[in-house]
Amino acid sequence: MSLTLKSITLTYPDGDGRLTALDEVDLHVPRRTTTAVIGPSGSGKSSLLAVAATLVTPDDGTVTVDGTPTRSLTKSELSEMRRHRIGIVFQQPNLLPALTAAEQLQVMAPRNRHKALDLLEKVGLADQAERRPHQLSGGQRQRVNIARALMNEPAVLLVDEPTSALDHERGAAIIDLITTLTREQQTATVLVTHDRSHLTEADAVVTIHDGRLRPA
Ligand code: ADP
Ligand code: MG
Repeated sequence: MSLTLKSITLTYPDGDGRLTALDEVDLHVPRRTTTAVIGPSGSGKSSLLAVAATLVTPDDGTVTVDGTPTRSLTKSELSEMRRHRIGIVFQQPNLLPALTAAEQLQVMAPRNRHKALDLLEKVGLADQAERRPHQLSGGQRQRVNIARALMNEPAVLLVDEPTSALDHERGAAIIDLITTLTREQQTATVLVTHDRSHLTEADAVVTIHDGRLRPA
């Protein structure tokens, strides 16, 4: 269980030319560790996660998930990999308004209510399982979001600025939860954050500027 990006370059169309969002990015994240990525807005953080998630194919370079080079996979194998090997936590939880916390998780694995309740307990929501999103706080919704990403026991966990809508204290608790779950669930985790105070929790820290990754 690990994630390796090798010499990743990603460009987007930009007027008559191309904008380089990722410039020969190398990154290796071993299992049970969290690598924090920090950088200003527009530096390429979300692009990096999109490539790691195999949602976007880079112009050049290779993404290896859990020992499998994703370039060799067909479209349906890729979506299978995303479903089973990769957990993604987006900035906004995107929970379904009509579903309870437990049901949000069961969408990922309909028969597995036991697992859903177990994960809700792990993220500190054991007594909120039957609540719908509007009955939960912002921090609780983000916890549901994180638990949902872990439903299929992913090898790789990708988290994009999970604390941007939270106050400092709640944000710190979410980061603590992510690094703890990374060790417990043995994921290779990439955590994009804009808050430097979160970096002490990470096993490794890299910075990104104009699509170039550097050790912090
Ligand atoms: P961050 O998450 O660090 O704010 P992004 O990865 O979202 O950065 O964006 C990196 C650069 O790529 C920015 O200049 C952004 O405007 C550009 N960009 C991101 N997504 C697209 C897209 N789909 N099409 C064109 N340009 C994009
Ligand atoms: Mg972003």
